[in-house]
Amino acid sequence: MSSSKNVILVPGGTGLVGAAIDYVTQHEPVGSRYGKFAEDDQWVFLSSKDGDLRDLAQTMAIFEKYKPTHVIHLAALVGGLFKNMKYKLTFLRDNLLINDNVLWASKEHGVKKVISCLSTCVFPDKVSYPIDESHVHLGPPHSSNFGYAHGKRLVDVYNHAYNEEFGCNFTAAIPTNIFGPHDNYDLEDSHVIPGLVHKCYLAKKNGTPFTVSGSGTPLRQFIYSRDLAKLFIWQLKEYPEIDPIILSVGEEDEITIKQVAESIVKAVGFQGEVTWDSSKADGQYKKTASNSKLRKYLPDFQFTPFDVALQESVDWFVQNYDKART
Ligand code: NDP
Repeated sequence: MSSSKNVILVPGGTGLVGAAIDYVTQHEPVGSRYGKFAEDDQWVFLSSKDGDLRDLAQTMAIFEKYKPTHVIHLAALVGGLFKNMKYKLTFLRDNLLINDNVLWASKEHGVKKVISCLSTCVFPDKVSYPIDESHVHLGPPHSSNFGYAHGKRLVDVYNHAYNEEFGCNFTAAIPTNIFGPHDNYDLEDSHVIPGLVHKCYLAKKNGTPFTVSGSGTPLRQFIYSRDLAKLFIWQLKEYPEIDPIILSVGEEDEITIKQVAESIVKAVGFQGEVTWDSSKADGQYKKTASNSKLRKYLPDFQFTPFDVALQESVDWFVQNYDKART
């Protein structure tokens, strides 16, 4: 075994997923499948304040400073549907620049392995269900966020090109909807769970009805950020492929937005009236993804039960209301 220490750089490491990886490295046993490599690992969680990864010189300076042996690349321009629809070129260009620079710097610095983070948005709009890893390039993504989707999709192309031309061990993860502590709880521009948690919290505080947008019928798979963090570390240590892997709960764990809202009501302890605003758009009815590749590698991985994970996320939000992104 090499005696040199591992330096794991996590660009974009101050958000929802990065905070969960930080948590898991401190709580899982060292040397376990989901824990640090060794006690003396150096895990570096970067924010945009450490440098703008759209800029190659700043990116190279970060890699020169830390000399990483491994990279979990989470940095991205992310946003809700409205922002994605309005700023397609910005989402395309910023994400392409960030990905191009991080992967080039990783190659130039001889990084042993890179895991980049994609999203289920990369999949074609018209696709057969359940979605699996072989579908990534089989048709155009949904028109609402094609800038973001293509920016992410090309990471898979880069990974294969880096591997074939330079022998690099670069791969990617495709998580489904993520939630957990340190999420973005903004009321206007957030994902469904943190947005509804914040709304329900305010309804309880103000004694007003809790209004949920849409019909409640769409189905989604949700992964707890701390489960995802364990899977990222496993992937960094053991996953042997260049092709991406979907990191998700199973198809049987898909739940309706109505069930999500009911669980939130319970977790927040809200006792008022729940109303549905069916004038608001529902989005895609479902985007069921298969986790059978993950199950082939990790048949026994235990996902945290949804209600337990949700309670932990709500408790974090309530305790950190002043410093949470709202
Ligand atoms: P967050 O928005 O919480 O975090 C994004 C991170 O990227 C932050 O650390 C941010 O830094 C950094 N960043 C953004 N732009 C730049 C830049 N130009 N230079 C340097 N750093 C930058 O995202 P999440 O934790 O939610 O997402 C992490 C990854 O997971 C992303 O790649 C995202 O696409 C992917 N993903 C997320 C899903 C979700 O449900 N949240 C679902 C599927 C995939 P700062 O805070 O300083 O701006």
